[in-house]
Amino acid sequence: MSILDDLVASGRNRLLIGGEWRDASDGAEITVLDPATAEPIASVPSGSVADGLAAVDAASAVAASWAATPPRDRAEILRRAFEALTDRADAFAELIVREMGKAFREARAEVLYAAEFFRWFSGEAVRNLGSISTAPGGDKRIISVHQPVGISLLVTPWNFPAAMATRKIGPAIAAGCTMILKPASDTPLTALAIGALLEEVGVPPGVVNVVPSARSGEVVGAMLDDPRVRKLSFTGSTEVGKVLLERAARHVVNCSMELGGNAPFLVFSDADIDAAVEGAMVAKMRNGGQSCIAANRIYVHAAVAAEFAERFSAAMASTRVGPGMDPSTELGPLINRQAADDIAGLVEATASHGARVTVGGGRPDRPGFFFEPTVLTDVAPDDPILATEIFGPVAPIVTFETEEEAVALANDTLWGLAAYVYTGDLARGLRVAEAIEAGMVGINRGLISDPAAPFGGVKESGLGREGAHEGLMEFLETKYIAATW
Ligand code: NAP
Ligand code: MG
Repeated sequence: MSILDDLVASGRNRLLIGGEWRDASDGAEITVLDPATAEPIASVPSGSVADGLAAVDAASAVAASWAATPPRDRAEILRRAFEALTDRADAFAELIVREMGKAFREARAEVLYAAEFFRWFSGEAVRNLGSISTAPGGDKRIISVHQPVGISLLVTPWNFPAAMATRKIGPAIAAGCTMILKPASDTPLTALAIGALLEEVGVPPGVVNVVPSARSGEVVGAMLDDPRVRKLSFTGSTEVGKVLLERAARHVVNCSMELGGNAPFLVFSDADIDAAVEGAMVAKMRNGGQSCIAANRIYVHAAVAAEFAERFSAAMASTRVGPGMDPSTELGPLINRQAADDIAGLVEATASHGARVTVGGGRPDRPGFFFEPTVLTDVAPDDPILATEIFGPVAPIVTFETEEEAVALANDTLWGLAAYVYTGDLARGLRVAEAIEAGMVGINRGLISDPAAPFGGVKESGLGREGAHEGLMEFLETKYIAATW
């Protein structure tokens, strides 16, 4: 039985509040579509303000007992979650493909990546270390301990429906926080399936509550206005992130924000061009370009620009487009109709400013929300597409002449999440990596995500880090105890 059929048959395609699966208080529902066909596949309740506050009640009721649960017990729950999710990788991948559209092989990779956050934070759960020292004046001891930040609100996007959830749930469980997960309305099923899995591996009722809601502003706002909620961990757009930071200010809620990106991908004249093309394909096309760290602007040194563009265009042109469940598919549909419309408009506008479309440029003739792999060359360095988070399989290429110019172009953005540098000269790679204003830089690599590495951005790309030891610290508060004995 597929996970979707199992959720529906067992009534777990519903809100998970305090260990109970329920309908929305007012009966509202969200219809989940398959982006490859534009047809409905399921419906789930759309939580109301009352449901959101009931989830805060549930999280509050068990907050103290969960914080007092031995770290080893929480670690072992996370370990079992890692094993259960890894064992069911194919079934979870199918569910992700159904509601989100990505190619099956990518969905499977996402599930394994998502599971790794459980494994990583299983280890971190027993590494909540404090410190003790003698004050410089010798009058006291300075003891510093880390305690759970408290009830945490986790708001996630649709692009990695499993991994964006586990990247928050893992450290929250490790830290001893109880939580409410509000997944994106396009992809609520994966979040509910993760809620069911956590229940099975022994997470006590009320520790992880899952409340999908299409009334996200209202419901998230009401939960943030409840003074019992002490933490917001948000992944999504910069636009919504700013709204939530303002709202969180009312009760000075601790915020971790993983927001949008506009990653530059720099190819210097001394780069291995085959490696750069391969890396650009990964950095641009992973998740169909719908990734916050997707290469959004490709800058190539003039001496190698023609060669790079030709080989990259060939790779893009040979990408197989189709429904995610077709085993030969490399590129699935975009998330929804709006996304396909937006990208079509962006490509048309850039072409009208004089860019050349060397590959793709339109929608394939099939149902669903598809867009062709597209390459744009001769893009002017000030074209608006370079100041837009494209979030699709469209690659604009710009040429540069000097290292200084490349760094200036890379930094000419309000965002600062990821960047990529290809060069045969490691000294140059490190120099440029240090000069680029981004939270993460790949040198001669198109794939940088790792649960053991601190993921996050600078400038308008966010606050805080996920993964690594830093990811645990986001769910802990430091307490200083002054003692004399
Ligand atoms: P989004 O529109 O900002 O939505 C993200 C989440 O916020 C969804 O759960 C959404 O719920 C909810 N939301 C929307 N409006 C809200 C409001 N007014 N108040 C409270 N919650 C609200 O972003 P998206 O389109 O799903 O995702 C794409 C964006 O996420 C991109 O900008 C991408 O770069 C970013 N992203 C960043 C990272 C990172 O780690 N930095 C990772 C992945 C994605 P509904 O679905 O119900 O609207
Ligand atoms: Mg959908």
